[in-house]
Amino acid sequence: MLQNLIHNQTISIQNSSIEITIKREDLIHPFISGNKYRKLKYNIQQAKADHSKSILTFGGAFSNHIAAVAFAGKEYGFNTIGIIRGEELSLKNELNPTLQFAQSCGMRFKFISRGDYRAKTNQEFLDNLKSEFGDFYLLPEGGTNDLAVKGCEEILQTEDSKFNYICCPVGTGGTISGLINASENHQKILGFPALKGDFLQEDIRKFANQDNWKLITDYHFGGYGKIKPELISFINMFKKDYNIPLDPIYTGKMLFGIFDLITLGVFPSDSKILAIHTGGLQGIAGVNAMLKRKKCPLIEV
Ligand SMILES: *Cc1c(COP(=O)(O)O)cnc(C)c1O
Repeated sequence: MLQNLIHNQTISIQNSSIEITIKREDLIHPFISGNKYRKLKYNIQQAKADHSKSILTFGGAFSNHIAAVAFAGKEYGFNTIGIIRGEELSLKNELNPTLQFAQSCGMRFKFISRGDYRAKTNQEFLDNLKSEFGDFYLLPEGGTNDLAVKGCEEILQTEDSKFNYICCPVGTGGTISGLINASENHQKILGFPALKGDFLQEDIRKFANQDNWKLITDYHFGGYGKIKPELISFINMFKKDYNIPLDPIYTGKMLFGIFDLITLGVFPSDSKILAIHTGGLQGIAGVNAMLKRKKCPLIEV
């Protein structure tokens, strides 16, 4: 692991006493990016200890988790099976860049309908997968489980106790739960969900052991993977001004939200904000291919 590349990068905002520091977890590893590395670390150890030969998991077509699991499988000697949401994807003869990458790492896919995908935690469904693929170490969607949360508790370092606010994007809630558990009482953890849905609060409560957190639900841009032109221009501006790339699914939405809340005067003056760059940059190529088909402005790389 390339841990020594991770660093905190402070950016200054014009006409404001508020300071934002970006924790560059995106630099953790070229393929197992950001929080996906944290979430896989103890799960890979457990799968080894269990003598599992295969790892099976779930995700959407652009999933950073799918890409990370595929690469980790290749690196650490596991067969990997990805159960992918969206039957129609198997009918197209061309896989998107994320799935192409996963396939090149040796991952096998099973494409299922959105309806079947909802049954993914149901025992009968999992038993059928065992008869199809043999025994496997099961990683839930997004890789979130107790061991993933334990890994995410390692994101915060002792020197990070000086921050008043810690911000992160939220998908399944594993990352924010780790941050909450590792935070100090005087800190407030703000999660920016990348999707719509009220289930997240409850999911986070299953893993989090403190109450110093809140979800900011105004910056999902219409839902998971939904992208608007103002988000693209924000991401391009951010790259130009600070030389930090953001992804359009998670980190772009979070930083758009933080900037907007600063403009709205929500943070007290002199606040010190730590924003976790959870990675996800592998998804940009696939999103750009889609934006190009729709003749929309692209994310500059
Ligand atoms: C998966 C992912 C998230 C969401 O993490 P959860 O633990 O599922 O909430 C956030 N950012 C990036 C870049 C991701 O890939």
